[in-house]
Amino acid sequence: QEKDYQFMLRTRNPGGFIPPELMLTLDRLSEEYGNHTLRVTTRQGFQIHGILKKNLKATVAAIVRSMGSTLGACGDINRNVMAPPAPYQDRPEYVYAREYADKIADLLTPQTAAYYEIWLDGEKAISVEEAPEVVAARQRNGNGTIFHDSVEPLYGTYYMPRKFKCAVTVPGDNSIDIYTQDVTLVVITNEAGELQGFNVLAGGGMGRTHNKEETFARLADPIGYVAKDDVYDLLKAIVATQRDYGDRFNRRHARMKYLLNDWGVDQFRETVEGFFGKTLEPFKPLPAWKYYDYLGWHEQGDGKLFIGISVENGRVHDHGSLKLKTALREISERFRLPMRLTANHNIVLYEIDPADQAAIQAILDRCGIQSEAEVDPLVRYAMACPALPTCGLAITESERIIPSIIDRLKALLAKLELGNEQFVIRMTGCPNGCARPYMAELGFVGSAPDSYQIWLGGSPNQTRLAKPYVDRLHVDELETGLEPIFLYFREARQAQESFGDFCDRVGLEAIRQFVESHTAA
Ligand code: SF4
Repeated sequence: QEKDYQFMLRTRNPGGFIPPELMLTLDRLSEEYGNHTLRVTTRQGFQIHGILKKNLKATVAAIVRSMGSTLGACGDINRNVMAPPAPYQDRPEYVYAREYADKIADLLTPQTAAYYEIWLDGEKAISVEEAPEVVAARQRNGNGTIFHDSVEPLYGTYYMPRKFKCAVTVPGDNSIDIYTQDVTLVVITNEAGELQGFNVLAGGGMGRTHNKEETFARLADPIGYVAKDDVYDLLKAIVATQRDYGDRFNRRHARMKYLLNDWGVDQFRETVEGFFGKTLEPFKPLPAWKYYDYLGWHEQGDGKLFIGISVENGRVHDHGSLKLKTALREISERFRLPMRLTANHNIVLYEIDPADQAAIQAILDRCGIQSEAEVDPLVRYAMACPALPTCGLAITESERIIPSIIDRLKALLAKLELGNEQFVIRMTGCPNGCARPYMAELGFVGSAPDSYQIWLGGSPNQTRLAKPYVDRLHVDELETGLEPIFLYFREARQAQESFGDFCDRVGLEAIRQFVESHTAA
């Protein structure tokens, strides 16, 4: 008899877009075949855990029939394309960011028919020719000369050396961790709000391996500017560069960030330009980046409203007095609202008629959903990956333990009269870094059973890499390990300086010296 193999299934939703039909289907599937929960990912998708092998086909087929897909959400291929979740309709740059996230997802979708043959064959739910990704990709992919003559004109026979991550954003909006992507496009418009082109960053990535110095988290570099008509050719040229020059022998050295690191920006740009057939223009000046999570009620600019809901650890479930799953089901059934998942594993509901605002708020209140003002600031900016028990790579707990870690940190900060502080905490169960802990002001990365590598010095707007402070801090030593650092922060911080900015300014060596002298005393 075959074993009951369990699977995790991840959806592909460019810009985090989830139509109400898909939400209701995912909700039903998680009850019927999954573990009764949904997990918002840090790339604006949904994960369902616990699908038995015998139920996989029915699950994927139901998702595709509900305007969803799982194609390219995992694997050595372009992953879910990210975009700011704010559904502004009166700010053209946001409209372009959402539109181009969709277009780039289409452009980089594999054209194989295998996905539909495997998951839908026999059910006649949808033909390969009708599949939305296939139709869109065929319409949008040009006949460039830089591509393989194979069934996959862009990816070729062997696809990419490793996963590939893209995002599109607007100047100043860092709701999507722009520096952590393989490629980020920044929409550039003229004064009339017309799209002109895109600033391009490349070579970011989080994943690393403990005790292997040759692996590291890296921030993306500005590469240049491209006019809007050339953006698809440029993206294909970047993919072709990584496809042909990325390391296919050592998986730990296969992400495009290592190409950028080994070659430098100039050689990378020249190689890309060779495929592209043109030169890139200089990067355009941009305003400072700000982190937005879009919690609370907002106007979307066309008379309708949207609301951002905090989802602790991205887990959509009913648990105790919190009935988040019930609330989203009820709102989807009654109001048929689309939603956008955010890069901080929260949810934005939009297209809300102001006449429905009170009724929707009443459902949220009845189901125990906290308002923006009620969300604890440390929880608000925290992220954790799923880790144990659902991720096979996990060394430690993450999602299940972070609530107790935050409670202990809150108690510690209150004891030190730092109870009003808020900073970015991120935790992962292994160095792969799915919750992007290396950008946090205080990062925890599972390194040994019940122990975490501690990272300090990221910025509140996620524009700076943190640095490793200590390799193994046992959870039992959380307070003794961190209290002296917070004490130093209290004594030596500048006015309004955040914890991450302080750690970066004074440096890890000064922190270690202070901790040593404090401990000796
Ligand atoms: Fe990702 Fe590692 Fe967390 Fe698994 S344990 S979800 S691989 S960071």
